[in-house]
Amino acid sequence: MADTTLMDKLVSLCKRRGFVFQSSEIYGGLGSVWDYGPLGVELKKNVKDRWWRAMVHARDDIEGLDAAILMHPRVWEASGHVAGFTDPLVDCRHCKNRFRADDPRIKGTPGQPDAQCPVCGSKGTLTEPRLFNLMFKTFMGPVEEQAAVVYLRPETAQGIYVNYLNVLQSSRQRIPFGIAQIGKAFRNEITPGNFIFRTREFEQMEMQFFVKPGTDADWFERWREWRMQWHRDLGLTPAKLQWHQHGPDELAHYARAAFDIQYEFPFGWQEIEGIHNRGDFDLGRHQQYSGKKLEYFDQAGNERYLPFIVETSAGADRVALTLLVDAYREEEVEGETRVVLGFHPAVAPIKAGVFPLVKKDGMPELATALYHDLKRRFPAFYDDSGAIGRRYRRMDEAGTPFGITVDGDTTAQRTVTVRHRDSMQQDRVGLDQVAAYVAERIGGD
Ligand code: ATP
Repeated sequence: MADTTLMDKLVSLCKRRGFVFQSSEIYGGLGSVWDYGPLGVELKKNVKDRWWRAMVHARDDIEGLDAAILMHPRVWEASGHVAGFTDPLVDCRHCKNRFRADDPRIKGTPGQPDAQCPVCGSKGTLTEPRLFNLMFKTFMGPVEEQAAVVYLRPETAQGIYVNYLNVLQSSRQRIPFGIAQIGKAFRNEITPGNFIFRTREFEQMEMQFFVKPGTDADWFERWREWRMQWHRDLGLTPAKLQWHQHGPDELAHYARAAFDIQYEFPFGWQEIEGIHNRGDFDLGRHQQYSGKKLEYFDQAGNERYLPFIVETSAGADRVALTLLVDAYREEEVEGETRVVLGFHPAVAPIKAGVFPLVKKDGMPELATALYHDLKRRFPAFYDDSGAIGRRYRRMDEAGTPFGITVDGDTTAQRTVTVRHRDSMQQDRVGLDQVAAYVAERIGGD
């Protein structure tokens, strides 16, 4: 299967089955903004829930936070986003398209007569490169003036830094400790694309771990290991995960070390999460810009210091895309192609489909009762239309790991058939045991 075809097939499956829709589609769509449908919202929620469990609930040393998207504009001066979060861009005066100045498709030097627009092909119509800030701007209050400008946050991390003392004091944590947050971030990306890989509105799962200077390198290594293991535990193909270390020219000026966890997408190896040793850059800058002391007093050592920060920063949408890409497969079964999303049961949007074999002989009643019982425990789906084979195929496409069929023997022997999505093997399980049977197999952490 050609790789681009795979992405096309996935995008079409996502629309057909209700994972992801283009935003405002009836108006022609909005560039690189996507909506999650019934199955997609469950998939992404499973990603976020697993992250929250691993980072907050399962640990004693991390607290949760939900900071607002809008923040004081000075935050973005302190963070460097006002000055530094910019890309040089060029416009075509003729076709009005906008490109990154380093777009390899541009021939010649932008701003000079020899430069050629990669879209309309006009010569000499490209402007000189101009700096363009990637933050979305809006106005707070009724007056649209410079003093009222606020930004939609381009990352969730700053909400953590400015609340670090509030969390520290209210939770009675001591360093080393972390703060975790899941939330929306916005970037006016110039080259968005690859479906939900790079979008203008997305969700981040970020954790900032505050440590004593000098212990940061050790914590950095620990966090690298834990985060890679988390991705493996999602059931991702291990050979498609790798580390990418930022070299000196890639490393942000404040970062002491940075590694990306990359996944091999059909469009190449790409970052899904970054692990960064940020030193004391962030707290130092906020201390300087706010004029408030942000030091930590270590009672045991009777010393005061500005903590160093180890950050783990992942995109919920990117992880969801990774799961979709990794799960997609086509197989020949009895002369027909079956499309399967082979999700790990713990992330599958629907855990079980319930099917009465035929719409008579008391089967629909038994199946409906079972469906309602299962639905109280985990997402389940009821389907009584069409041949049973077709109903299984529909659930294969949705990535549902178990298909439960109520048949003639259910009334007589009080057993059902459980069909496994991947092997297509069938087990006979007691009607009273089937909820526990599925629950046991979807637990997985
Ligand atoms: P990239 O170079 O791919 O744009 P980045 O290095 O700018 O990413 P970070 O600022 O480190 O990314 O953001 C952390 C994580 O947030 C990324 O690993 C990614 O999962 C997610 N992310 C960043 N930008 C986007 C985006 N435009 N759309 C979707 N997810 C994003």
